[in-house]
Amino acid sequence: MPGVKYGTCPTCHSSRKPDYQRCYPCQEAHWLLGGDVPAVLPITYSIERSQVHYALRNYKDNFDVAVRIQFRNQLAGLLSLFMTSHQQCLAPFDVVTCLPSRKERTAAAEIVTMLKRFESIYQPVLTVGGGTTHTASADRFEASPSVEGRRVLIIDDTFTTGASVFSATSALRAAGALVENVLVIGRHVNPFKYQLSADLVEAAKDLKWAEHECVLCRTSESLF
Ligand SMILES: [Zn+2]
Ligand SMILES: [Zn+2]
Repeated sequence: MPGVKYGTCPTCHSSRKPDYQRCYPCQEAHWLLGGDVPAVLPITYSIERSQVHYALRNYKDNFDVAVRIQFRNQLAGLLSLFMTSHQQCLAPFDVVTCLPSRKERTAAAEIVTMLKRFESIYQPVLTVGGGTTHTASADRFEASPSVEGRRVLIIDDTFTTGASVFSATSALRAAGALVENVLVIGRHVNPFKYQLSADLVEAAKDLKWAEHECVLCRTSESLF
């Protein structure tokens, strides 16, 4: 992002250390995926304690079902708005999927399946494998053989280290799918915990979120 003196990670758009090409989790993903990391498209930053962060937490964790529904609807609205403006910015896809959890249905899938445009192409093609959950790994998920030769878009709610979506990318590709993009609603940034994140939030504080620009098509600094 222009104007941020130390630069941002070209993969996940968060902060990175000045002397490194990308942030450490994305570097690990780079190794796991043989240098072919999918482009991560955050719709917005999810800054700790911000409104977006609150919505992303509460749509799945709030004890009150009415509150969960309210935030889920808001997030689905944001995703829908983004797709209307930026579907053409994404690589073509014929399957949309979300990450599985140990519950029957994942939280992100609850948002994604609310959108009419995904009705006929959403497929839960990933299952939980046996791998580690802390870092990106090839065996954390397994993908259905049905994805062979399909172009798959992964959508998740929050991107923190990317370990889940990069593990999913690895599993889908092992099953023969093409994965070029990962779309996430919020790229989590915690300025209360990390100085680099605090610097990023400070540098971006005057930039406005703009509906007509995404990380792939932006021409100005107005995105974040
Ligand atoms: Zn990164
Ligand atoms: Zn765009």
